[in-house]
Amino acid sequence: MQAMLLHGPGQPLRLVQRVDPEPGPGELRLRVEACAVCRTDLHIVDGELPVPHWPVVPGHEIVGIVERVGSGVALSLLGQRVGVPWLGHACGCCAYCARGSENLCDAPLFTGHGRDGGFATHVLAEAAFCLPLSLPMAPAQMAPLLCAGLIGWRTLRKAGDDAARIGIYGFGAAAHLVTQAALAQGKEVLAFTRPGDAATQRFALSLGASWAGPADQPPPAPLDAALIFAPAGELVPQALAAVRKGGRVVCGGIHMSDIPSFRYRLLWEERQLVSVANLTRADAHEYLRFATAHPPQVQTTVYPLAQANEALADLRAGRLQGAAVLLP
Ligand SMILES: [Zn+2]
Ligand SMILES: [Zn+2]
Repeated sequence: MQAMLLHGPGQPLRLVQRVDPEPGPGELRLRVEACAVCRTDLHIVDGELPVPHWPVVPGHEIVGIVERVGSGVALSLLGQRVGVPWLGHACGCCAYCARGSENLCDAPLFTGHGRDGGFATHVLAEAAFCLPLSLPMAPAQMAPLLCAGLIGWRTLRKAGDDAARIGIYGFGAAAHLVTQAALAQGKEVLAFTRPGDAATQRFALSLGASWAGPADQPPPAPLDAALIFAPAGELVPQALAAVRKGGRVVCGGIHMSDIPSFRYRLLWEERQLVSVANLTRADAHEYLRFATAHPPQVQTTVYPLAQANEALADLRAGRLQGAAVLLP
């Protein structure tokens, strides 16, 4: 097999040859068909997110075909297409797992972080955390659903079912899928971009956003909720200023620059500031059911596996619209 291996923070990924891995008990081996590139991969590469051990193969939006199973895994999975998301393992016995919050598990393993991910031709995954994929979409189109879609969905759900006017700060891969889900639910979406980013504003409007403008400007009317996907802490007070009394600001990313201090008045009147961490398998099944009923248009830029560094550079520079996807 081949993999793009990361030896340490700040280094370029290097293409390596490895022996095909054998699945252990409860595991399966996938032939990777596509793996999308997430901002979290960039945080890992840039050393903003600590990694349990080096080296590691990044990538946690994997679509692949089961080609080998370990003991205890149903043989009927062989030949099936499955997805591997960020949550690669949860212990099942800590207090958080017991209360249905496996996204907060005390002893988790994350794909492309604590275990090798999908920037590769083959990958091992824990069968219980793989997701059956039966959407009538090409693998490259499905891959971004596995994090941008799933964690975007959890972020949207945190806004509250009664939030009708949603602002989205940072209009990348997650935002373009969340916008389509929110519109399918009958909500209104307003897009906030970097000042002067007319191309991304046009992209948001083309997907059905009712308004698009710079993040440092107030919206035309107060928001019921704001979702922040950009890793920029200064957006938090800006988003709080844009939501109505009792409104909610949801931070959907895993890492953000420091939040500047702000006047209490921005939080007062029962505004709420919350974060989203990881996902549960229940989130994943719920979103995949929703996406089956409301298939999203997925905008991708495709790169060969060996060009993972170029894909990461384009994401870092904001040169992408939609999602970057690696094809082995
Ligand atoms: Zn991700
Ligand atoms: Zn646990």
